[in-house]
Amino acid sequence: MKEQEQNQDPIQSILAEIRQLPLQDQARLKDELYASNETSVDLDAVLTSTKFSQGRRCPHCGGDHVHKNGHRKDGSQKYRCVKCGKNFMITTNTIFQGTRKSLSTWNKYLNCMEAAKSLKETEQECDISHGTAFTWRHKLLDAMRKSGDDIKLVGIVEADEKYMPISYKGNARHFQENNDRRPRKRGSEAVKQGLSNDLVCVPCAVDNAGHCSAQIAKTGKCSSKAISKAFEGKIVPQAVLCSDGDKSYKSFAKVNDNILVQIKAGKKSIKGYNIQRVNNYHSQLETFMRRFNGVSSKYLNNYLIWHNAIKYCKKYAQNRIKLMLDTASSAQMKVCASTLSKRAEIPILA
Ligand SMILES: [Zn+2]
Repeated sequence: MKEQEQNQDPIQSILAEIRQLPLQDQARLKDELYASNETSVDLDAVLTSTKFSQGRRCPHCGGDHVHKNGHRKDGSQKYRCVKCGKNFMITTNTIFQGTRKSLSTWNKYLNCMEAAKSLKETEQECDISHGTAFTWRHKLLDAMRKSGDDIKLVGIVEADEKYMPISYKGNARHFQENNDRRPRKRGSEAVKQGLSNDLVCVPCAVDNAGHCSAQIAKTGKCSSKAISKAFEGKIVPQAVLCSDGDKSYKSFAKVNDNILVQIKAGKKSIKGYNIQRVNNYHSQLETFMRRFNGVSSKYLNNYLIWHNAIKYCKKYAQNRIKLMLDTASSAQMKVCASTLSKRAEIPILA
């Protein structure tokens, strides 16, 4: 009967064929489908509704007596504040300010971000330079990272560290100053055995409500301090915290008042608890990172946020572009190319 149904329903028979593909191809197919299904968002309208949700306000002085004041050449609305006399745009004091590109270009750009396209593909689709594609990527992700700070993991939380090779990719000054260290070949694994200082430790946590958290804590092996710094304020007290047998989790769980369930090596679960969800998170993350051929440690935290937003967080699942946009436009921040390159080579948690 089941087979008959499959024969009648073309979707079912396509799905049956897809299920026979290797997992990697299935993932690729999903990405391709995502990429072809572009959503159109009126960036101007979304920005206006976010910025003026409490009525029109001047971004310079906060004054609420604001007039429309003509349009720019590209058609975007200008405003003038009666109180301070300054002009502004809907993009003033947002990451979209001063980008000298139309909002429709940003719209295309957000579609590329949602589909996790490479810089090269993004440059072509949005007709922007390589440098712009790169700077915008990190402007957006910086803003998302800033607003991601209030994510709270609740209920049953599974945690485990992910180790990733340190990379100074694209960081010419580092190689000049430290001529003993050659750039690592693209995507290659750290060569030393065990958990050497050539790796960054990224404590990751996921809960059963679809929240997740991941950021660089330190270089080399995990420690109690690293776990505490990474999860402080992120995992709520009284949540059940499941981890492997690593003792680094003990002091955090005690101080943060979590019920710690440790699944020792060789065991799959204890009392129905396991760390399968965080293991799946790790493999998803690996698949996502593979497309970038190695990411500089300097920017790794941004890629983690990116992955979480478009591949994992349930919060973003409904309308990723709108949420990326809301997040980006509500963050009061300007990011420019010169400050991007000045960030720490390996942003460890102090
Ligand atoms: Zn004003």
